[in-house]
Amino acid sequence: MSLRVGIGFDIHRLVTGRPLFLGCVEIPHDKGLLGHSDGDAAAHALADALLGAAGLGDIGEHFPPGDPEWAGAAGSRILEETRRLLEAAGVAPVQADLAIVAEEPRLAPYRQAMRESLARPLGLGPADLSVKARTHEGLGEIGRGEAIAVYAVALVDVAARR
Ligand code: MG
Repeated sequence: MSLRVGIGFDIHRLVTGRPLFLGCVEIPHDKGLLGHSDGDAAAHALADALLGAAGLGDIGEHFPPGDPEWAGAAGSRILEETRRLLEAAGVAPVQADLAIVAEEPRLAPYRQAMRESLARPLGLGPADLSVKARTHEGLGEIGRGEAIAVYAVALVDVAARR
């Protein structure tokens, strides 16, 4: 095994009139994340961390905002395509850890579902996909419930890199 680490970050605005998709799970809330895709900041931060670890650029390059191919795209589709990009380069996802920063809704009840749903499209199990959630202590845009941000780190195995 030859390991490489990558970091990812994403933030999306929370707006009324959209379902909330986070960590490839639909979460009941009166607002959802705005985006060209379904706005799943957790899936996007994770994809960015994996692409970074693999040395394959970033999510904006592979999933350009405005590309009709990715309009309304589910986070799981973006992760499946990320896995395919890694595989084509001989790189395998190994493990990831996510920190979600959201004032609301309360995410603890959905943490296990998010672990499973984020791990599945990558061919990982929930034991290799950690999700943590915390608030922003009421500070700034995130603290006012206007946005959700996600930090991710990912390990990949490049032993079979082509
Ligand atoms: Mg995004």
